[in-house]
Amino acid sequence: MTEPRSTNADLFEAAQRVIPGGVNSPVRAFGSVGGTPYFIARAEGPYVFDVEGRRYLDFVQSYGAIILGHAHPAVTEAVAKAAADGTSYGAPTQREVLLAELIAEAAPGVEQVRLVSSGTEATMTAVRLARGHTGRPRIVKFAGCYHGHADALLAAGGSGVATLGLSGSDGVPPNAVADTLVAPYNEVPELDDQVAAVIVEPVAANMGVVPPAPGFLEGLRAACDEAGALLIFDEVITGFRLGRGGAAERFGVTPDIACFGKVIGGGLPIGALGASTEIMQTLAPTGPVYQAGTLSGNPLATAAGLAVLDHLTSGFYNDLEATVTATAAQLDTMLLEAGYEASIIQEGTLLGLYMGQPPINDATWRPKNYDEARTTDEQAYARVHAQALDHGVAFAPGAYEAVFVSPAHTSNVIDEVLTAIAAT
Ligand SMILES: *Cc1c(COP(=O)(O)O)cnc(C)c1O
Repeated sequence: MTEPRSTNADLFEAAQRVIPGGVNSPVRAFGSVGGTPYFIARAEGPYVFDVEGRRYLDFVQSYGAIILGHAHPAVTEAVAKAAADGTSYGAPTQREVLLAELIAEAAPGVEQVRLVSSGTEATMTAVRLARGHTGRPRIVKFAGCYHGHADALLAAGGSGVATLGLSGSDGVPPNAVADTLVAPYNEVPELDDQVAAVIVEPVAANMGVVPPAPGFLEGLRAACDEAGALLIFDEVITGFRLGRGGAAERFGVTPDIACFGKVIGGGLPIGALGASTEIMQTLAPTGPVYQAGTLSGNPLATAAGLAVLDHLTSGFYNDLEATVTATAAQLDTMLLEAGYEASIIQEGTLLGLYMGQPPINDATWRPKNYDEARTTDEQAYARVHAQALDHGVAFAPGAYEAVFVSPAHTSNVIDEVLTAIAAT
């Protein structure tokens, strides 16, 4: 074994030798904000601590996988207890049933649930299920929505009208996206009888935060019904974050298939998809659409998920929303005092941050789609990111990530840190 390395720079250098870009998910490499990523040693509540012993107020929260704050005792105890009983069996367990029951109870339109190991697997399976169930090939997605990294969903669209997807990544052959149509967010596209499904983030949270315009989700629902297509809500971020019933409940629109991830695993690898029994029975072993997973329904992930869901009462969400509202105001003040122009968009418990430049410094400005979201000043974001990091505040190292807040992000905690930034 090599010697232990204790600085971020040393670790990043070593990491880049054995891991492409030094990271296991691209955004972590700080490519778009510059600088050296901090390597985390541990985390607690609103804070993460790096290997150099520096503390950061963490607005990343594992990109939304953490909702109770880091290392919440209920979660760590549940995981430790589960681990002592074994880490994976390849056979069903009671906790899988309990978690599926809770998801089905909470999520509109969901009667049955299949647990998988990531959000990517959930959306990939949802697409296959929709195609298998309808017997149709085509998928419609929206520019700026992220649905994980399955080939068919890595399509890039032109702006303006719905366009046939171009491959959004090398290694994704044109064939893989030949049946993926990319439309602008917040506009209901025309659907024909070739469309198996429309997949959408019901609140887009991977281009900052772009809420659905009034009527958009209802319009998608109606268009899908008319065309005989399935409506897939990708609630990997919004599920159990906007409320127990996610965006479907918040906006009163019920999808045919819902995808989950992040929150429902309490920071352990998990994903899930759910739908009516009729649709879900299309999956193997009851139906012809194949899907499987060695670690699906993992005993540690389900233990963590159950521990988290146990805390997510309606009171929890009311409190969290108040915390998020307070945080938004504090961030606004901090950015203003530090000389930045910014728009902070709040949708319930979700926050998005767009930097400077007209039309963004119009207080009423809200991005409606990817083209508008992309007017954010990425350079200004990079400066804010670096300056904040210098003062012990960690925003995500990408201008299009949401700002994640937990109940541990109390006004006092945030004030203490943000005042330090504004003062410099
Ligand atoms: C994170 C995310 C995914 C992918 O989930 P992974 O667990 O990273 O594979 C899919 N959809 C949305 C909306 C996401 O935010």
